[in-house]
Amino acid sequence: MTMEQHTYHFDTYPLFAFVPMGKKNKRIRSVGQKVQKGLLHRLHEHVKRKVATLTKEELMKLQAFLDDTEAVLPIPLNKEDELYPYFLKPDQLIWQAFSPMHGIPIYGSSTYSQSYLTLSTEELDHHLDRVIRDYLFCANLALRERHEWEERIFEGFQRHPFVQLAKEKKEVVQAVEKMNHSPLISLLNSPEDLSFWRHRVEIVMRPYRAIPDAWLWGSGCSHEKEMIFHSSTWEIEYFCETCGFVVYYDITKDHVRLKEVMDMERAKKRIATIERQFNEMVEKTPRIVEKIEEIAHAQLSFKPYEGLYDEVLGIKSRMEAEEAPPTVTLYERLRLISLPQVREGSPLLWLSKVSTDTIEPFKPRAILPSVNEDSLTNVREFLEHLRSLSNRRPNDEDEFVAIKGNSLTYKEVEELLEFISRHENEPLHVLIKVFTGKATNAIRTQGLHQEEPFGLLNDWEEKHVVKAIKSIEKDGLLSKLSKGYTLTEKANVLLENGDA
Ligand SMILES: [Zn+2]
Repeated sequence: MTMEQHTYHFDTYPLFAFVPMGKKNKRIRSVGQKVQKGLLHRLHEHVKRKVATLTKEELMKLQAFLDDTEAVLPIPLNKEDELYPYFLKPDQLIWQAFSPMHGIPIYGSSTYSQSYLTLSTEELDHHLDRVIRDYLFCANLALRERHEWEERIFEGFQRHPFVQLAKEKKEVVQAVEKMNHSPLISLLNSPEDLSFWRHRVEIVMRPYRAIPDAWLWGSGCSHEKEMIFHSSTWEIEYFCETCGFVVYYDITKDHVRLKEVMDMERAKKRIATIERQFNEMVEKTPRIVEKIEEIAHAQLSFKPYEGLYDEVLGIKSRMEAEEAPPTVTLYERLRLISLPQVREGSPLLWLSKVSTDTIEPFKPRAILPSVNEDSLTNVREFLEHLRSLSNRRPNDEDEFVAIKGNSLTYKEVEELLEFISRHENEPLHVLIKVFTGKATNAIRTQGLHQEEPFGLLNDWEEKHVVKAIKSIEKDGLLSKLSKGYTLTEKANVLLENGDA
């Protein structure tokens, strides 16, 4: 600490270092009036008795903390050189440098809240015990830089038995979390076992989830942390507000405790039990393993024909829904599934490496159509069919849809789409008003009544226009946003071809 330049000494009170408090308070000329001198004398005698009970080493640490050869306690004075009635908290002084041009700034948190001037002898005795204990704790902390303590805290955290257990069981912990969110889990037998397992998982995983990933699996989070000093337990409370995570570091034992007291034997048993119970469910569901084998086999059988199937899917995605041959549907689903190369470890561990967005092919009764000459011929024919469709662009006057005697042509659809592409956030009811030509105030304000398709469908009933828009959406030309619509890739292709 560099308080030296801020302190003043008076021979009468060798244990005190007088500190000017407040921003514009730079120097002290004398100490207090007669009454204050009495108070100071009483305080000094009291501190002297306390100091007599300290070891030599403790005394030297206190003096070193104040950069002082004799004083052990700073006594703040205000601008009038009167006693400031609250002691300075030592955590305001540790690892701090103050400008010699100013006094030590006063914040509400920089001093104790108890005024020492109004205390009885007994109360003052208690208060001084606490204050000197706090100073001793900070004097010990000041022997190292803050970052050194931070390193020790994180190392201590790494040595915590629960963190060690988590690291040892990392694969299991992560597999449990992954399986718990996998769609596959719903296929495990039995539903009762599964709901029991999931209930247990919530209990067992809670302490793992309570620790941020960056702490548990990485080298800690990079947010700024707060340190709160607890001199009564010789602990540093180390707190990340962003993560909402706290650890307590005991500076004498050099170890970290977590907020929650962990029964380590129980924690070890629990993580082993949920792994075992999961594996038992897999054992009770041999069909799921068979299905995974079938899927692996099917993926292999598609390998030589990936080019063909990819081309089909490429064209199909730009076109209106055509009934596709079963192997195309299967291929589309299998593309979303990734299986582990090898099955290592327990069923929990390797099943958690199955990644899938679809559950269909895994269902016990799902029959996977096989890739053979017949199905390949079908797919090739389907591809030809798609190609011929995609080459044939509908004429402007071709009917897109007819609703209750009203006919909507492709040209009109394109006009509606163009409008929507310029007004993606307009909700359905506004689109209806524009297309049927209802110039409400809101529509006028936005100038929508001056746009191209205003009143295009003015002889339509509103509910039929709703149907028309739904059918454009169903055809894959529009996709719904949380508010309004956006054009799909297919719609953009249609518009581009229309311009050509
Ligand atoms: Zn953090």
